[in-house]
Amino acid sequence: NLDFHPSGRHFLQIPGPSPVPDRILRAMSLPTIDHRGPEFGALGLTLLAKLKQVFKTEGPVIIYPASGTGAWEAALANTLSPGDRVLMFETGHFATLWHTMARRLQLDPEFIGLPGYEGWRHGVRADMIEARLREDPAHEIKAVCVVHNETSTGVTSDIAAVRRAIDAAGHPALLLVDTISGLASADYRHDEWGVDVTISGSQKGLMLPPGISFNAVSERAIEASHHNRMPKSFWAWDEILEANQNGYWPYTPSTNLLYGLNESLDMLLEEGLDQVLARHQRWAAGVRQAVAAWGLEIQCQDPAVYSPVLTGVVMPEGVDADAVRKLIYERFDLSLGTGLGKAKGKMFRIGHLGDCNDLTLIATLGGCEAGMKLAGVPLAGSGVGAALDYFAHHPLDAIR
Ligand code: PLP
Repeated sequence: NLDFHPSGRHFLQIPGPSPVPDRILRAMSLPTIDHRGPEFGALGLTLLAKLKQVFKTEGPVIIYPASGTGAWEAALANTLSPGDRVLMFETGHFATLWHTMARRLQLDPEFIGLPGYEGWRHGVRADMIEARLREDPAHEIKAVCVVHNETSTGVTSDIAAVRRAIDAAGHPALLLVDTISGLASADYRHDEWGVDVTISGSQKGLMLPPGISFNAVSERAIEASHHNRMPKSFWAWDEILEANQNGYWPYTPSTNLLYGLNESLDMLLEEGLDQVLARHQRWAAGVRQAVAAWGLEIQCQDPAVYSPVLTGVVMPEGVDADAVRKLIYERFDLSLGTGLGKAKGKMFRIGHLGDCNDLTLIATLGGCEAGMKLAGVPLAGSGVGAALDYFAHHPLDAIR
């Protein structure tokens, strides 16, 4: 109903886009400047340097005026050639979409994973990747592609273990990692984990609106881009890397989103990345307390890889999670993430990332609790109470 305008602030608790802080909105409201002028070049150099700290890399980070999907395509188009075999791991809906993209780009993707729905409740199994690579003595597999924080399920994957698996198999495949929803909310280390291309986006942990995305690239990835045969123009790294030397782009960049990015990087680095990550872990733990008190299941079945970014809440058999979500949206002006792909109708997702605080999460859990009661979902107890207790007894300082 377009005539209905609820009072107060909308609760945007989907796992991205996440709420954009006022400080970033103000930075983006400044006048657009000449993207070939000196002021812009200085801004470009500054933010490209700061960006490396968030990806934890000494190498370059390329910025595209595109959503995360564009940066997925850029990663494949710059490193691979038509017909190349790539090994991908099914962790959920986003891994599946990336696999579909690889096929459309005329790669030869092989999708491995746990049987049935199990893969959607666990992280990547590095041992399965290692076993498959050991069966490839001719090195036909050119890249391993995995999703670090599977936004459709609330499950993370151990990327360092995937790198160890590739090395243990003595395999030269490149490692391509999607951390579109992990960066700046979940621990991520491009260089230390030996990642060749890291793909990320603006609208999650960076707290920006959607519209820009990233490729952090290793020397091996750049080397591959000099020889690969996939047609590419807009996505080609070489021209961008050259223009970036002076803080510019070969085509018109998203100037005002870059103002926002500069502000976002300042906010994250002023707070300190360790603190940012601890804050997310703590929120996630509080939200899981709530789900446990409701007597409901969490989508992720392995506590070692619970996502600090979002939690998937599984509805009891016979309850349509989307109907519950719709009721919560209509009654409380609270947006929750829908179940995607194989999880459709089975669960909803609570985003707890970026510009949140204990009380916005308590309110979010309040909306979930009241909505589930109205929808007739049987609850064992009060999740709101459990989360309040958890937050009260686990101040952020204590877990630093
Ligand atoms: N990969 C992951 C893990 C995501 O969460 C998303 C979006 O939510 C994407 C890829 C696609 O990114 P975008 O929707 O920005 O194109």
